[in-house]
Amino acid sequence: MNPVELAKSEKDGLDVLEDLDRIAQGGPDSMRPDDEIRLRWYGIYTQRPAEDGFFMVRTRIPGGELTPSGLRTIAGIARDFGRDLADVTVRQNIQFHWVRAAHLPELLERLHAAGLTTTESCGDCVRNIVGCAVSGVDAEELYDTRAIVREVNDFFVDNRAFSNLPRKFKIAITGCARHCTYPEVNDIGISPYQSDSGVRFRVRVGGGLSTSPRFSRDLGVAIGPEDIAPVSAAIAEVFRDEGDRKNRKRNRLKFLVEAREIPWFREAVEARLGRSLEQTPEPPPILERDRVHLGIHPQRQEGLAYAGLSLVGGRTSGSELERLADIAERYGSERVRTTSSQNILLLDLPINELPAIRRDLVNSGFDPGPSWIRRSILACTGIQFCKLAVAETKTRAEAIVDELERRITIDEPIRISVTGCPNACGQHHICDIGLEGSVVTVDGVKQEAFQVFLGGGVGVHEAFGRRAGVRVPSERLADALVSLLEGYREQRLATETFQAFCHRAEPDVLAGLLRRGINEPAELLSAAG
Ligand code: SF4
Repeated sequence: MNPVELAKSEKDGLDVLEDLDRIAQGGPDSMRPDDEIRLRWYGIYTQRPAEDGFFMVRTRIPGGELTPSGLRTIAGIARDFGRDLADVTVRQNIQFHWVRAAHLPELLERLHAAGLTTTESCGDCVRNIVGCAVSGVDAEELYDTRAIVREVNDFFVDNRAFSNLPRKFKIAITGCARHCTYPEVNDIGISPYQSDSGVRFRVRVGGGLSTSPRFSRDLGVAIGPEDIAPVSAAIAEVFRDEGDRKNRKRNRLKFLVEAREIPWFREAVEARLGRSLEQTPEPPPILERDRVHLGIHPQRQEGLAYAGLSLVGGRTSGSELERLADIAERYGSERVRTTSSQNILLLDLPINELPAIRRDLVNSGFDPGPSWIRRSILACTGIQFCKLAVAETKTRAEAIVDELERRITIDEPIRISVTGCPNACGQHHICDIGLEGSVVTVDGVKQEAFQVFLGGGVGVHEAFGRRAGVRVPSERLADALVSLLEGYREQRLATETFQAFCHRAEPDVLAGLLRRGINEPAELLSAAG
């Protein structure tokens, strides 16, 4: 039995709370290896460097739904316990860093008092349920799934029938016409379509990225909104009972779906439900490429607007979030949302006060009209805090944004991800430009560099990025990307998207465009693998 399965069999991850006071009093040195495994069920990880004894703590924010007072609580925790740092993740959570063991109990208490939690935001269980950040307000929305997201969340959280799954399990549920929750890369991805009889939902299973990326597969069924919770439970049951518990590198749902194929999987789900599901052909995938909800837009509620604010790589601070809560309250907004693109939104802003709101947002450091590159970029945690990382990510993303904003403009949505290792938490495989951290040795000296993947995408453009066969030194990323994007502008056909260009162009051409921007030793630039 592997160490994680052993730890789970001895004591459920949810039971680690009874050890928290001991860990808080004794500090990291008092921790047993099993404590470290089980603390993840409450979103608590040791952070890099391990010897310094700090923790990362991840909140769980279903559907990204927050209030200004919840945001204030998060801001206060970031300031008091986390050196004022806060990172929004691609699953709509907010993470704290630099947390001392002694502060963990009070941190959790403060969150609970505000109606927030960290429960099962990590660990081998159902992670945060991702939902559309403009659910309930977007004029183009097909179905308001907020109540369903909460129902599914409440069913799984603290439910001991699902607190020991073979591995992590990710669910995305949306009624958004743009499929902004990325159902293609979740274990369960539920998204709407307009059928002859009204809005129905498709169910995709077995998506996930990491070192063996897979797109989820359509289960071949159409379900109504009332079926989303029971079908999600049945799928999780199949994974719990049939998933591999031996090899942690091969035990995500994607491997089970791949091994047993969709007809078997659908039957297994139906057996647990005790009824058949309506089988219908898969509707055409969506064409929409821009899935971020950024900028200021009218809501479907008359006289109100939402403001989508870009956070580069999801990085923000307690002080910034406090200022945002102030603005929300000043203008009567009671709803804040985090997004699966690492951004943050204020809802219900009065349209007739938008000039003042814009001014206040800008004065507080937020950009209500983000440039093309600020709309585009994602970044995972990276080497600053992540023990698996080989490269820095957040500050690299910031540097890329600063340079590209100044040097080039692109008139179509492009996604760029800066990811610190092959585990792909920054989703680089499905971005137009994916940058994966690596280390190269030149003249006996180790240097940080990034593998470049090109042409990833989702929806009708579903594809994993292909390796360009070039590793770019970190300091030259902006130069290489400017050259690549200039090449695209020079050579694109009519309205050809960047992704289509990457698929049409010969690999040598793409690699040549990246090399054109920099003059580095050939052995560094051509290093592959
Ligand atoms: Fe850490 Fe790698 Fe995940 Fe980034 S992709 S957060 S570096 S494990």
